[in-house]
This record gives sequence, C-alpha cells and structure tokens, in this order.
Amino acid sequence: GAMDPMIVLGLEGTAHTISCGIIDESRILAMESSMYRPKTGGIRPLDAAVHHSEVIDTVISRALEKAKISIHDIDLIGFSMGPGLAPSLRVTATAARTISVLTGKPIIGVNHPLGHIEIGRRVTGAIDPVMLYVSGGNTQVIAHVNGRYRVLGETLDIGIGNMIDKFAREAGIPFPGGPEIEKLAMKGTKLLDLPYSVKGMDTAFSGILTAALQYLKTGQAIEDISYSIQETAFAMLVEVLERALYVSGKDEILMAGGVALNRRLRDMVTNMAREAGIRSYLTDREYCMDNGIMIAQAALLMYKSGVRMSVEETAVNPRFRIDEVDAPWITDAS
Ligand code: AMP
Ligand code: MG
Repeated sequence: GAMDPMIVLGLEGTAHTISCGIIDESRILAMESSMYRPKTGGIRPLDAAVHHSEVIDTVISRALEKAKISIHDIDLIGFSMGPGLAPSLRVTATAARTISVLTGKPIIGVNHPLGHIEIGRRVTGAIDPVMLYVSGGNTQVIAHVNGRYRVLGETLDIGIGNMIDKFAREAGIPFPGGPEIEKLAMKGTKLLDLPYSVKGMDTAFSGILTAALQYLKTGQAIEDISYSIQETAFAMLVEVLERALYVSGKDEILMAGGVALNRRLRDMVTNMAREAGIRSYLTDREYCMDNGIMIAQAALLMYKSGVRMSVEETAVNPRFRIDEVDAPWITDAS
C-alpha cells in the first residue's frame, strides 16, 4: 500500500565484485556478492566482466530469496554507473535495465564513491563528514560543499590499493594483496626510506611502488618493506585528511573502501582525530568493500530528492566523478 516503505534493489559491479543489495528505508534486507579472483596477476577487465555475467542472476535471486520478496516487490532499481572498468559496468547496467523494463519500476544510475559515502553515513550515523575513500583504484578525500560532494584531494597516479596489490603480486602474493601485506607489516621493524609524496591535498603512490620493488630485488625483508609502505603511504593520507578537515571546517571523518579495513590505517586516523577533537567513523567491514547495499542507499536518496532517469540516461561512464552529481539531501554543517 501507499504507506509501505520503498524497497530498493542496488547492483554494484564497477570492478572485481558483483553484488546485489536490497534495502528499505529502515532496514537492510539482503546482500549477496561474488568476487572475481584472478588465478594469476591482476584484474583483467574482460575476465571480470565474464565472471559478473556468469553469476549475476544467481547473486540477484539469492538476494531476493534472503529478503523474502519477489522481483515485483522492488520499487526502485539502482546500479553503479561509474567510475570503473567499462566491461564490468556494462554487465551491471544491462542487468539493471532488464529488471527495470521487466518490472516497470524506475532505474537510477549511481556514482560509486557516492554509494560508499551514503552507506557509511547510514550505518555509522556520520552527518556531514570528510570521507577518506581508499580502495583499489581510488584514493580520494571528499567533502560536501555547496550542494555536491567535492573531491578535495586525490591520487595523481595509481590508487593506494593498486599500489599495495602490485607490490604484493611481485612478491608472489595473489590479489587482493592488502590483507597479507598488513600481516607482514606487523612483523616489520625497520623503517626503510620511501618517497613521501603529497602536493596540497593530492597524493602519489607510484614512487613508493618503484622504490619498494627495488628493496625487494636487493633482498630487504618483505616484512620491513611492507611495514615501510604502510607507514609512509598512510602518513600521507593522514596529512591530507587533516588538511581537508581544516580547509572544509568539518568535524567528522568517515573512512570507506577496501583499504580502510587496514587496522594500522584505522589506528592512525583515529589517533589524529582524537588529537584534533574530531569524531571519526569507520564503515563496518561488510559495507566497506564494494557492495550492492551502498548503491541502493544512494539511489534511494537520489530518488527521494526528485531524481528520475530514462533508460537512455543510464549510459555507463568509466570516468564518472562524484562532483557531477547533485546531493541536495545534505545541509553543510560548516
Ligand atoms: P575495493 O576496491 O574498495 O573493493 O577494495 C579492494 C582493495 O582493498 C584491494 O586493493 C585490497 O588489497 C585492499 N585491501 C583489502 N583489505 C586490506 C587491508 N587489510 N589492508 C590494506 N588493503 C586492503
Ligand atoms: Mg569502491
């Protein structure tokens, strides 16, 4: 009936993970995901897309089963429109459009980082945070200013997760290398010199990768290299985060993205926040990684603020930026 809460199905598939999340306005009903894991090397975009297309129907039907609803109970379909790998994006978009056409329900294409920030706000209670978004391909510091989320700072070359994964791969550790590097780093004791590269609120990580690979070649202990990568790269992130807080005048931090699962990074950010009198929020593990729930949540907010999209307007955009999207549901705290 008219009083029932809206049920939203969200599809995420920008990179390695295809995921379906189902929410309504007060509850998280289901989440099903499948991650593409290359047997060797890094992510091959076409293989990731093949993986997604092979499992997407199972992922969606399992999520519907868990939520105990039929596809016709859905009121809104959200999907990740970008940024990401074009072949993966196209599989996700095609599935979302098919469901929309099949059910006659509205569809909304969602910016992926917007999903991270909105699910983070929903599950942590952060109101108007500076977000540190650290994932495989992305490293951004984002804050809401004048009706939109703006990228205050970002990596000028590779994402921090890609840097760690590439180093790990050369050391014989399979993708994703982050968790294993974190374990090795805990046993490291010697801080090796690595290029610390911060320009304003922007960062760069390829210099660290090159130097770390050199250390690997010359026989430095992998524990010490891992430790030094983390200490150097995370200190850079804390520095730009501090500057972004100062510039934006916000008093909350929200961390999201796969690299935000790292305990050392979390501790460094939490310590800085405590000293600065800032509240810091860590998105829960299951919502930190790419997932369909975050896309559903952003789609819900967009829909409720009046956004409507025709199927023609749902073309994927591998370079989609968060500052292209209006976000009128936030009133700037500062
Ligand atoms: P995402 O792109 O947000 O799905 O996150 C995936 C990235 O997070 C990969 O680059 C992983 O290596 C990285 N990652 C996952 N867990 C950790 C961790 N504990 N420490 C560092 N990086 C991590
Ligand atoms: Mg992500």
